[in-house]
Amino acid sequence: GGLLPFEHAPYFDFSRPDTAQAQRDAFRQVRERHVGRTFPLLIGGQHEDGSGTFGVTNPGDTRETVWHFQNATPDQLDRAVTAAADTFRTWRHSDPLQRVSIFKRAADLLRSRRMEFNAVMTLENGKNWSEADGEIAECVDHFEVFARETLRWAQGKPVYPMPDEHVTTQYEALGVVAVISPWNFPAAIPLGMSLGAIAAGNTVIWKPASETPLSSLLMIELLHEAGLPAGVIQFLTGSDDVLGDPLVDHPQVRMIAFTGSREIGCRIYERAAKVQPGQRWLKRVMAEMGGKDATVVCADADLDAAALGIAQAAFGYAGQKCSACSRAIVEDSVYDEVLARVVAHAEAVRAGLPEENGAIGPVIHEGSLKRIQGYVDAGRRTARLVTGGDRVDGLHGAYLQPTILADVDPKDPLFQEEIFGPVLTFTRARDWQHALDLANDSEYGLTGSFYSRDPHKITAARRDFHVGNLYVNRKCTGALSGTHAFGGYGMSGTNAKVGGPDYLFWFLQTKTTAQRY
Ligand code: GLU
Repeated sequence: GGLLPFEHAPYFDFSRPDTAQAQRDAFRQVRERHVGRTFPLLIGGQHEDGSGTFGVTNPGDTRETVWHFQNATPDQLDRAVTAAADTFRTWRHSDPLQRVSIFKRAADLLRSRRMEFNAVMTLENGKNWSEADGEIAECVDHFEVFARETLRWAQGKPVYPMPDEHVTTQYEALGVVAVISPWNFPAAIPLGMSLGAIAAGNTVIWKPASETPLSSLLMIELLHEAGLPAGVIQFLTGSDDVLGDPLVDHPQVRMIAFTGSREIGCRIYERAAKVQPGQRWLKRVMAEMGGKDATVVCADADLDAAALGIAQAAFGYAGQKCSACSRAIVEDSVYDEVLARVVAHAEAVRAGLPEENGAIGPVIHEGSLKRIQGYVDAGRRTARLVTGGDRVDGLHGAYLQPTILADVDPKDPLFQEEIFGPVLTFTRARDWQHALDLANDSEYGLTGSFYSRDPHKITAARRDFHVGNLYVNRKCTGALSGTHAFGGYGMSGTNAKVGGPDYLFWFLQTKTTAQRY
């Protein structure tokens, strides 16, 4: 027998007093255990210090520096890549069942420590309890899904036979994969890319965002506890001038798996195309970038459901998801009504400390808030500010009120550019086809929602909505690993679809062997 059927990890119900108390206890333990500590790099299984350290700020209360990490040196980068290349020689031939066992054990270990991981993430990136819980549950799912995918891809694929030859198609690992990840999903995103790499038999340089390194390091330590051999993953923190371009350019790196901004994704794509001296392959690049995700509401839709879905997808984690709804596009006859309902939701959301499970927390840092406010201030002139727009006083962080700008023109940067904050635009459509056209008027194509009860319109949306993740009559955030393979069209990136049935293919090369009988 093989693995049992897959089931998604259920979320915690924090409205239960005992569950809420357990999460509070986890914060206390994480604070006792980790706050004030300095964490090392990990190269070839050894802990190392870099050339000095940097502090990680709690965005919920920026007066607090929670922990410190190392600045890796160019020499350490080079040794890390060499260590990954050395380990690759053995790890590439590891038994797939060994990898499955490691992932299964990691899933079990993480199930029993979810609240601790939630707490660490909250202190680094300002997610509230439910948002952090959703992400750590996704990590449990990733372990289970990648365990199953490892076995599936190890089997190769059938080919049409020849009378006098035995022919097989098998998949083999690539080499050293650089995993470069963002702060908004500091556990699930680098874990998904790294598990893709190691499930396929590759080794990894794991470079977390500098805002959120402990969420990554704890996940790597958990994998080691589950039996992952030393040297399969190297963990490097530090500045972009050491770990940005030089990592991408390194001739021993075989593949770059990146999730983050469009600007950096395009830069990596371009740089990786250059064959460096000593490099013996064309680098593969997986680049998952931004979104400008739209929700279309048809006049016949369940307007309550639509308004709630828009509000949740726009303001959850202060809109800092590439999947976030940033554009509501509503048919003329119900526009005012839907707007009023979403505004009511937005005004009911109270900003508060993530550690106390505030409904909406801060944006990641002051620079981000300034950039977001630049869009809002321009919007005060070009559109109609209906609610929000101001900083929340009395909290020590970059908290912005949930903000809605109505009557936004499709040419407006507010409609075209990714804002990455709790800012939602409303645009009026003549009819539902016009709404779909407006939704597609974007260089991005990550997620989209379509609300209607009419099967004819839904069929048209399924066909014409130009996105990698289309959600009909539900919100456009919260993709589940194994089910909602995640990745977009257009400038949203390479469409690698993490958590999906083709993801491992990205980390593999295909060998055909024909043997005469
Ligand atoms: N997978 C997440 C979701 O579906 C979004 C990931 C991201 O924002 O990068 O909400």
